[in-house]
Amino acid sequence: MTTQSTDGPTRTAATSAAPWVPRGADLPTLAAAAASCAGCGLHQLADTRTVFGEGPPDARMALVGEQPGDIEDRRGRPFVGPAGKLLDRALHEAGLDRDQLYLTNAVKHFRYRRGAGPRRIHQTPDAAHVRACRPWLAAELNLIRPAIVVILGATAGQAIIGPSFRVTRMRGQLLPGPPGSGAQLLATLHPSAVLRVDPPGRDAAFAGLVADLAKAATALAAVTAQEPPSTTSPTSA
Ligand code: SF4
Repeated sequence: MTTQSTDGPTRTAATSAAPWVPRGADLPTLAAAAASCAGCGLHQLADTRTVFGEGPPDARMALVGEQPGDIEDRRGRPFVGPAGKLLDRALHEAGLDRDQLYLTNAVKHFRYRRGAGPRRIHQTPDAAHVRACRPWLAAELNLIRPAIVVILGATAGQAIIGPSFRVTRMRGQLLPGPPGSGAQLLATLHPSAVLRVDPPGRDAAFAGLVADLAKAATALAAVTAQEPPSTTSPTSA
């Protein structure tokens, strides 16, 4: 692997993924097109790839995180690293089946900086990266039309709700999606934030994540019983 910083070009080159997003495409076609996206400078990072969302195209709940981590980037799948394993446990405790959910990220490339040796250290994507990558998220959600979108952490909240989003203030509340979307939003912590809590408080943080996901599960049961499929992406407002 080469050494490469995310400073410099990746801060200034972000524009938009829109030119790479094919119209009228299904999910596999979108995922294939995303593999060659150069919509922002993150595609220039050494040894990374686009990590697209995964899950059934008719999923009634979607979960949106920040960006793939080191392991997700190596494997090319979202939520398969330590945070993904914690999320799997939380989903199970909340009565949700991962196989029935669509999991994706607001930003599809792993932003990192080099640590000692080969270590790649996570860096939070800039607002410009989130903006640039948003057409992929909008395309995914437009196709899936989930009844519930779970927002995992601040970056996903900023991608879906906007810069006013604050996870500490808005978590655990059912929020309306854009008018006409038929979707509801529910924000909670990103599972990696739970992992960062020191052990004395980690159990409580995990329980909070489970409680929020259980609210999403309850809302899903209610919504799918009462509402027709949505017709507009929750990110289209
Ligand atoms: S982060 Fe998103 S917009 Fe940027 S290159 Fe990757 S897929 Fe394209």
